[in-house]
Amino acid sequence: MAVDFISLTPEERSAWILSLGQQKYRLQQIEEWVFGHGVLDYMQMANLPQSLRDKLAQSNIPVLSAKIVAESTDGGTTKLAVELIDTQVVEVVLMRYRHGLTLCVSTQAGCKMGCVFCATAKSGFVRNLTRQEMLSQLLLANSHLRAKGERVTHIVLMGMGEPLDNYEESLAFIRMAVGPLCSISARRIAVSTCGLVPGIERLANEGLPVTLTVSLNAADDELRRSLMPVAQVYPVNVVLAAMHKYAEKTKRRVTIEYVLIKGVNDRAKHAQELAQKIKGSNFHVNLIPFNAVVNSGFEPPLPAAVRMFLEVLSGEGIGATIRRGLGGKVQGACGQLRGTLRK
Ligand code: SAH
Repeated sequence: MAVDFISLTPEERSAWILSLGQQKYRLQQIEEWVFGHGVLDYMQMANLPQSLRDKLAQSNIPVLSAKIVAESTDGGTTKLAVELIDTQVVEVVLMRYRHGLTLCVSTQAGCKMGCVFCATAKSGFVRNLTRQEMLSQLLLANSHLRAKGERVTHIVLMGMGEPLDNYEESLAFIRMAVGPLCSISARRIAVSTCGLVPGIERLANEGLPVTLTVSLNAADDELRRSLMPVAQVYPVNVVLAAMHKYAEKTKRRVTIEYVLIKGVNDRAKHAQELAQKIKGSNFHVNLIPFNAVVNSGFEPPLPAAVRMFLEVLSGEGIGATIRRGLGGKVQGACGQLRGTLRK
């Protein structure tokens, strides 16, 4: 695999800059451009002498080997297709909220989890992404935002793939994102999982106050098993127990995600079952109306069903919100990412 600047270790970076006949402070300048300003082209690093810029541009170490190959925008949401070194394409979504800009990062090309309502699952699993490939998504997004004078403020590991099925790399990425070069607060990072209990337990012990989000989608085991194969291994009560432990250990509020699918899990009895299981907890429920997936056989819920579901939960004193349907027009909403957006 060809190497890029962000994949070099600190020692390799120092050796590289020295090998170019430069002093070490030049390295800090380059890092400042890349991580602080989203500048990924040596030629634009204005405080480097022209001769050095030329040298860097001709060297065989580009800043990043990943690149944006397509882009689509729908109001506040932008989907970027990012091509990796082996030509795999993953999708990354930028969402504009009142409090800032959230980047939805992919952690795998494809996914093994097989949730029946999700587009990513339909294309199967290709491979895990490396920490640098996740970091590339952040840097490419910042580079994309640079013209507007903006940058990513929040990260959710909620794109293609299951972050806890690629634990080491996902965690290493988070550590880089909260590190001195990127300095995003851990409290502004969320990890979303389909409920891999050992991963949740491990994450609780990392000493990182990241937000945990668990995609429950049904409170009844049989129904959950029919939607999410992972439920065959970890029953709802076991997942909820791991979430309680996570909340206790990290003092962070845990979120439950619940994709509402018409006639499948959106009835009053489903809301009541969920309420019974989490009453008295501090879990927040995020309701996500199902986003269309071709050939899934599923349909979005009626608006009245979404309201009813919310009211049942609120009536039981459970904090719940409806996720704004961002990104539907660009196939960039939850469950619609499948790596098909190409040049
Ligand atoms: N594997 C992780 C992260 C990726 S999925 C997880 O399961 O949490 C991100 C979210 O999108 C999950 O909450 C999932 O339940 C939801 N989702 C998947 N397909 C969807 C669809 N078609 N419509 C709406 N949400 C969907």
